[in-house]
Amino acid sequence: MNSAQVIVIVGAIALVAAVQNRACAADAPATSATDSTTPSSAKYTTQKLRGKVAWLDEALKRRYGISTEPDAAGTSVVLEMADGVLLPIVPDTRGRAFAVDERLRGIELELLVRRYEKVPMLQVIRVLRPTKEGMVEIDYWCDICAIPMNILKPCECCQGETRLRERPVEEVFQP
Ligand SMILES: [Zn+2]
Repeated sequence: MNSAQVIVIVGAIALVAAVQNRACAADAPATSATDSTTPSSAKYTTQKLRGKVAWLDEALKRRYGISTEPDAAGTSVVLEMADGVLLPIVPDTRGRAFAVDERLRGIELELLVRRYEKVPMLQVIRVLRPTKEGMVEIDYWCDICAIPMNILKPCECCQGETRLRERPVEEVFQP
């Protein structure tokens, strides 16, 4: 094998590695880099809110006797707070996770959310669950690729199964 062949092979390996990294990073948790694309006019505050996530149609009916069209059933989710306040959730990846996985609905949660000025919806940043042992953070995990996802779906890397993961909050931000 001459040196030109070696260089070509090394280059091909590097390319494959780069492509794999990009695929695996596609659903990585939001970082501060995401914020740089936020329009400067988008003002928001970050809050922690307690409650249960429910279907909008179901919560409206049960709490207030408000009926909705059958087509609207099971399409939108709200955070239902103990005092009856219903706050709609932005249907981004984290928001849609509540629609996709019924295990996330109807349980006591603490959501870290952004509340944008002039937008009456919650953007979910983190999903936490209070337990007797303390707060745990919920996400989805591929044991083979060791990558997290924010919604129940096949792994972005291997297309294999992912599992619901709960970690004590103390561990979450450790490298
Ligand atoms: Zn995987």
